Amino acid sequence: MLELSTSVQYVKEIGPRLAELLAAKGIHTVDDLLHYLPFRYEDRLNPRGISELRRGEMATVIAEVRNSGLFRTRRMPIFQMTAGQGRARLKCIWFNAAYLRDRFKPGQMVALYGKVEEERYGGEFQLVQPQFELLDEGGNDGPTDSTERKLAGSLEVGRIVPIYESAGQGRLTSRWFRRIIHTALENLPPEIHDSIPAVVRGRLSLIPPRQALWKVHWPEPGESFEDLQNSRTPAHVRLIFEELFFLELGLELKRHQQKAQTGIAFRLDDSVREALKKILPFHPTSAQKRVLKEIASDMGKPFPMRRLLQGDVGSGKTIVAFEAAIIAMENGYQVALMAPTEILAQQHYFSARRILEPAGYRVVLLTGSLEDDRKREIRRHIAQGNAQLVIGTHALIEQKVDFARLGVVIVDEQHRFGVLQRFKLMKKTTDGHVASDAPIRPGTGHVGTGVPARPGERSSPNEPDVLVMTATPIPRTLALTLYGDLDLSVIDEMPPGRTPIVTKLVSDEHSEKVWDFLRKQVANGHQAYVVYPVIEENEETGIKAAQKMYKELQERVFPDLRVALLHGRLDADLKEQIMRLFQKGEIDILVSTTVIEVGVDVANATVMVIEHAERFGLAQLHQLRGRIGRGAARSYCVLMTSGKVTEEAERRLDAMVRTNDGFQIAELDLELRGPGEFFGTRQAGMPSFQVANLIRDRQLLEAAKREAAAVLAGPNAEVSQEEIDRALRHMRSRWQRSYGLVEVA
Ligand code: ADP
Ligand code: MG
Repeated sequence: MLELSTSVQYVKEIGPRLAELLAAKGIHTVDDLLHYLPFRYEDRLNPRGISELRRGEMATVIAEVRNSGLFRTRRMPIFQMTAGQGRARLKCIWFNAAYLRDRFKPGQMVALYGKVEEERYGGEFQLVQPQFELLDEGGNDGPTDSTERKLAGSLEVGRIVPIYESAGQGRLTSRWFRRIIHTALENLPPEIHDSIPAVVRGRLSLIPPRQALWKVHWPEPGESFEDLQNSRTPAHVRLIFEELFFLELGLELKRHQQKAQTGIAFRLDDSVREALKKILPFHPTSAQKRVLKEIASDMGKPFPMRRLLQGDVGSGKTIVAFEAAIIAMENGYQVALMAPTEILAQQHYFSARRILEPAGYRVVLLTGSLEDDRKREIRRHIAQGNAQLVIGTHALIEQKVDFARLGVVIVDEQHRFGVLQRFKLMKKTTDGHVASDAPIRPGTGHVGTGVPARPGERSSPNEPDVLVMTATPIPRTLALTLYGDLDLSVIDEMPPGRTPIVTKLVSDEHSEKVWDFLRKQVANGHQAYVVYPVIEENEETGIKAAQKMYKELQERVFPDLRVALLHGRLDADLKEQIMRLFQKGEIDILVSTTVIEVGVDVANATVMVIEHAERFGLAQLHQLRGRIGRGAARSYCVLMTSGKVTEEAERRLDAMVRTNDGFQIAELDLELRGPGEFFGTRQAGMPSFQVANLIRDRQLLEAAKREAAAVLAGPNAEVSQEEIDRALRHMRSRWQRSYGLVEVA
């Protein structure tokens, strides 16, 4: 008998060697294996007769191999196989498929799946590049045993058959998975306990877990084929909902715990209000006022703030962050403000000095590139409480920095980090980074990280507040999963006096015209960015690079203008100097890589030319474009492409031309790329899902969130304490397993 938690290597026929191949697919336990779902199904219950096929349909045909062979045409080798049912024959061809040469033996039964096409108009039907599976093959189709033939009879034909993605570089075939998963299912205990509370099961009509696992792999003959292919059978819904429910339960629990912890209740009296007003360089927009109110209200409460501030590029988040900092500083606390890059940290530092220092606040910048002596000195100021606002990169918190009295942590441009990184970040930020001999008992502790603790479990008193800021408009589904544990504030209004950016798409064959346009803008007193995807040239790719193009632009195109180069490999001092010159208007054209992507703010820059725009992601393009359109003058974004543009790139570029609305762009980006890559990299700390898909399963996600909240509102008439405890136990072990998070408290 197998337990769900048993390692897969103990499933019959797997063993340590194959278990390793499975591990590469993220399959470690029997439970993982059973959640390796078919990506499609084949109806081999009613396979089609060759004579009934219709042109253009996708069909499964089971037939006998008659003959096969490789033909060399002038352009490529073509492999052809003819299969038959009685007297009916069906030709199948595969292009460039010499590897199939010895694959088929006459007399073998084969299942074929593909599109029915006419050989030529009015000619015979054939399958072009069909997927296939030999139904009575031994040896080279993965491990076999003596029951092979018997199983083949029952698992491969005469039913709806699951098709799995193969693994281990093709060694673990769909057919192998089918057999192994079948074995695992047969050896499961007769009951699997259902950890979802009964009332939730009832509301969503969820079928029991064991039944769901069976049916998702081995659908019953009557199952709707459409539901199967769309992952909408009761079995699919049960498994998907379960995964989302326990994710949301964990996030909801974190929210609850945060409310139960002791935070700092910042005083918000008239003198603080006065201080807030004093620094404002402009009238805040009503959106800024609203979110500041939400933040201030959180800060005034005796539990720690965990809030996400979302606002498109240029919507004015910085000043809101400064206002939050002032509330803390006026209360005698310190503030940490972290940015993802040194440039951004520096920029925040300059704005902070401009806006906050005249009001008497003490601001320091702590970055990796400082001299060691200087770093030590700054750290001392922080530990002694002299430094009130500490600005740095996230590296700031990777090392141990002791704060005398940390009150608020502000994390800027969080979109580069996923939920898991954020948990770790917050933990590091607030975990023991406090001088032990501080005069006043400082705020510290274990901020919600790792696996949520049981309700009622408290961590140390006086957790600092955390404000996370992101410029990426996050589609609601993602916000629910990535930031489900945070309260949300949105700045949905731009500061006044902005003219919408005009975006144009041109091929670099017209680059001279673009440069002329740029020259005119500079003549009118404006500045421009020219952005490249890479720093250095690479012969093979032929991609234009910042370094080379900088030379070309300065020497050949704009010898009379002030052109400068900025990229990530420059020394921090130099970068800073260049940015400052650009800010002061002493550089006309800044040639750069994506280092300017985030946060850089120069209102007089009205043109951005992005070369090789086809190579950038949608979110990145939007971020880049956000660097212009910051002043009253009309701004222009020129997306310049080189050579062939793929269809997907075209959709991205079209979207950029069509809209400036970050939310629309984000939704499309999510659709084009899928959630895993939405945040730039696969490892962005997205919880990875076994069976759920955030785009397909939006509604189930909403339901999961709702139900998780309802369960945590108990115990009550609907849900008992035992049920809650059971669900939480299950959630904890799942979080530990799926997200590799270990509880600290
Ligand atoms: P982001 O949300 O992208 O961080 P910033 O905070 O950098 O945006 O603000 C973008 C620009 O808009 C800055 O130059 C800032 O000074 C200006 N700004 C912000 N709020 C207002 C406002 N209410 N009125 C006028 N200008 C504003
Ligand atoms: Mg910003």
